[in-house]
Amino acid sequence: MAMTDVLIIGAGPFGLSISTHLRNRGIEHTIVGRPLNTWRVHMPLGLFLKSEPHGSVIHAPVKGYDIASYCKLHGFDDYVDRVGPLSLERFLGYADWFAKELVPDIKDLTVTKITPRDGGFQVEFAEDAPMFARQVVVATGLMPYARVPRELSHLPSDLMTHSKEWGDLSVLGGKRVAVLGGGQSSLQTAALLHEAGADVHVIVRKPEIFWEKSVTQEIGLLDYIKSPPVVLCDGWACVAYGVPDVFRLMPHKMRIHKALSTFGPSGAWWLRERVEGIVDVMNSHSLKSAEAHGSGVRLHLNGPKVSTFDADHVIAGTGFNVDVKALPFMSEAIRANLKTDVKFARVDRAGQSSVPGLYFAGVHTMTSLGPGARFIAGTHHMSAQTVSSIARRLRKGSGIGKHSAGDDASLEPLTTGAGRGQSR
Ligand SMILES: Cc1cc2nc3c(=O)[nH]c(=O)nc-3n(C[C@H](O)[C@H](O)[C@H](O)COP(=O)(O)OP(=O)(O)OC[C@H]3O[C@@H](n4cnc5c(N)ncnc54)[C@H](O)[C@@H]3O)c2cc1C
Repeated sequence: MAMTDVLIIGAGPFGLSISTHLRNRGIEHTIVGRPLNTWRVHMPLGLFLKSEPHGSVIHAPVKGYDIASYCKLHGFDDYVDRVGPLSLERFLGYADWFAKELVPDIKDLTVTKITPRDGGFQVEFAEDAPMFARQVVVATGLMPYARVPRELSHLPSDLMTHSKEWGDLSVLGGKRVAVLGGGQSSLQTAALLHEAGADVHVIVRKPEIFWEKSVTQEIGLLDYIKSPPVVLCDGWACVAYGVPDVFRLMPHKMRIHKALSTFGPSGAWWLRERVEGIVDVMNSHSLKSAEAHGSGVRLHLNGPKVSTFDADHVIAGTGFNVDVKALPFMSEAIRANLKTDVKFARVDRAGQSSVPGLYFAGVHTMTSLGPGARFIAGTHHMSAQTVSSIARRLRKGSGIGKHSAGDDASLEPLTTGAGRGQSR
């Protein structure tokens, strides 16, 4: 059976970032997954990122792989560090370049099962023979957790979809579309649909949409005190909830509450003018039930204005429900030993779970590492920590990891260009 010191499951921002840190320490590893699939397939054309450009950088242990450098190298002289928005197209251009330069040998494989074995893990794939991995990092992101409300789940896909299913919304041009949810994803979907010629109606439970305040390009000394900028965003809340070592100082109960309630549904400041007064927003309305009706769908609502709403199609912009034990590749043995907090993985400061050698990165770790852990900015705080812990385990292991580095070692400088294999 093929063997690897570390298997990273997922080739999104977290998987890529961790791979660059492993490579920088000379730690042999394998990274599998469809590169940047969430961004390429599950986000609509025309989307802008909510995170500021400087907060959308995938962390690497060497300088020169941020979005500013990418833009400079490719002649995009309209780049600004703050006061986005950053287009999906530009972000994907950057992330593809990052992957090509720093993580050239991603294997496009789907993990179907991981089972603890002989102090490591047996990993099975849909497309290839099983492999033995001494340590595993789960960086599979949000997409497996898409949530469709029970009231909609019986509807066929020509009448109802989750927002993650849309790459090209223009096919709904000319249709009457209901979008459920008041977060950035629904609001941006609504704006894009309207701009594509659809008749759009947003249904929101809350009495009003929460629009974020704009950031300023220049930051003065006073701003640093009043609203300190961290990678994730500006302000003391961003320090408390975006920096894991600060978040971990909070009591357990408070951590869970803050993980679930901070950075809740809101619209980016730059999106406001494309929605407010442009798209019909039905605040204070909640969904009671839905049924197929004629060639479309009929929604029954609780709310002050409308009780029945007919549409050609309904999009559930209702987000994601994390449940790590429900990930399809978790074996019973892992499920039995994996400790969780409200279905998120309980991890230490390096992302290691209660199953030794099994690490999590990104959204799965929010209750332990803070709500900022689900954003690209989270790579800045986590990747080096995770890799230090992996290096420590390899060093302690019984001669395993012949390429493994000590914690302090910087074995091989990260070089650019394909052909310097960091995984096998
Ligand atoms: C509409 C929308 C807008 C967003 N906007 C922002 C934003 O502006 N800024 C921001 O920071 N964050 C944003 N996010 C959150 C964003 O998803 C994360 O920041 C980022 O993608 C997390 O990276 P990741 O590496 O954890 O996961 P992902 O990027 O989701 O990557 C997951 C990887 O896992 C792989 N994978 C999954 N299952 C398996 C399997 N069984 N076997 C092998 N591989 C597998 C996939 O192929 C993929 O390569 C947004 C999310 C959504 C839904």
